[in-house]
Amino acid sequence: MQQALTGLKYLALAMAIAASWAGKAPSSEVPPNIIFIMTDDHAQQAISSYGSTLIQTPNIDRLAREGALFENSFVTNSICAPSRAVLLTGKYSHLNGVRDNRDTFDGSQATLPKLLRQAGYHTAIVGKWHLKTEPTGFDYWNVLIGQGQYYNPRMIEMGDTVQYEGYTTTVTTDLALEALQNRPEGKPFCLLYQHKAPHRNFMPEPQYFSAWEDKEIPLPPTFYDDYEGRPAAAEADMRIADMYMGFDMKLLPEDYEGYPEGTGGNAGFDVSGSWKNTLEGLTPEQRAAWDKHYGEVRREFREKQPRGRALTEWKFQRYIKDYLRSVLSVDAQIGRILSYLDKAGLAENTIVVYTSDQGFYLGEHGWYDKRFMYEESLRTPLLIRYPESIPAGSRISAMALNLDLAPTLLDFAGAPVPEDMQGRSLKPWLEGGKARRWRQSIYYHYYEYPHGWHLVRPHYGIRTERYKLIHFYNDPAYWELYDLGQDPKELNNLYGKPGYSKLTRKLKKQLQGLQKQYQDSI
Ligand code: CA
Repeated sequence: MQQALTGLKYLALAMAIAASWAGKAPSSEVPPNIIFIMTDDHAQQAISSYGSTLIQTPNIDRLAREGALFENSFVTNSICAPSRAVLLTGKYSHLNGVRDNRDTFDGSQATLPKLLRQAGYHTAIVGKWHLKTEPTGFDYWNVLIGQGQYYNPRMIEMGDTVQYEGYTTTVTTDLALEALQNRPEGKPFCLLYQHKAPHRNFMPEPQYFSAWEDKEIPLPPTFYDDYEGRPAAAEADMRIADMYMGFDMKLLPEDYEGYPEGTGGNAGFDVSGSWKNTLEGLTPEQRAAWDKHYGEVRREFREKQPRGRALTEWKFQRYIKDYLRSVLSVDAQIGRILSYLDKAGLAENTIVVYTSDQGFYLGEHGWYDKRFMYEESLRTPLLIRYPESIPAGSRISAMALNLDLAPTLLDFAGAPVPEDMQGRSLKPWLEGGKARRWRQSIYYHYYEYPHGWHLVRPHYGIRTERYKLIHFYNDPAYWELYDLGQDPKELNNLYGKPGYSKLTRKLKKQLQGLQKQYQDSI
């Protein structure tokens, strides 16, 4: 038979066999199920397996203990909607079309759920979506409207608006469990389970109101950063000192008469209307629990009347505690999902990913929020458990990007990874090996300015293991250079200082190489 084939036909047949092996899991293997957990604005500094000194997150830590933790995992554009579009497409913002939160996602492009569906998966998403257009590529979807609310969320289920009662982190988990129970037999599933929390305005669940209540949380060492040598950092409106007194601090107008409301990052935001609507959206039971806890906070504020640094530090305590309390709910709810997988006998053959759409500032540089290419917001948590092929307790130091998640999951699913996806599969690292010719640097590009929030000037840059070079390219353009080995907190901009010209030239050349590789230009 083989002899009867011409050389060309034989080659074609061999390629077809190779392609079928590359494109499909061997028939004896069942493709893994996938649960992709993404939270919103969850910093590595608030996860105990990442060494947090602030909080214990036992359920997320379980994924680290039973799977792999990426020690150097980064995003390509540190803001919500753009990061979600990168996850879905495996492409940078300039190619997937979502550069900032104002852009609308083009749902006709190839995405992770569509490709998994083509490979025979049942696909579903519950919770935060935030891409404006209706989700595509899902057999089932039920998503928060826009940013979503912390309590009693309105959601869109397959095109219909539904009003739920309860705490959104719990509601989202209930919906995730329902989606798992309703999955069809005989098909692998992929569930995107995506939380609103711990996004601003950090509204905890009553059962965690008392956590850290009698404890002072220490200020981060860079809290009183003076931003010397970093004009973009000085210009940004994201200081805890300027957080809103109502919306963020949960005071009522009569509590802070004579105080400024706070600039809060957006001069056009209807802060008092938004806070009033939020409070009015609570049920009487929820409102009673809120009034009890925040009544104490308000009373304390009126008594102390803090001003100057005392006010800033009071704001920090309020902010960080409400943020961490919101994380406690997320961690507890993830525990429910992991228990379900155990009980249903699904834990072995299900890949569980935990990540956030980006990192966050927990007081470092005096800030909340994200956006900058500095470490706290460039980094994002990434933990992946898959007992069948990922050794328990792996810690992977290779530089991973959110760009890699779609190719990685397609690779595990045995589905082809499209040529034009720009990320790379992390599977070789996860299986205890090394990926050939892995990246030695990462490329970053942030855009949202001056519209939107927080006035962070657009910038792109390169980060190697040791150095970071950032170009703030709006007029007046300037550069920043950091030696992360000497200055991990990025306080000392070395750009233009004596002794760094050779290094700067080298990094600029590498940066241009990355822009060419990823087809980015400004
Ligand atoms: Ca976010």
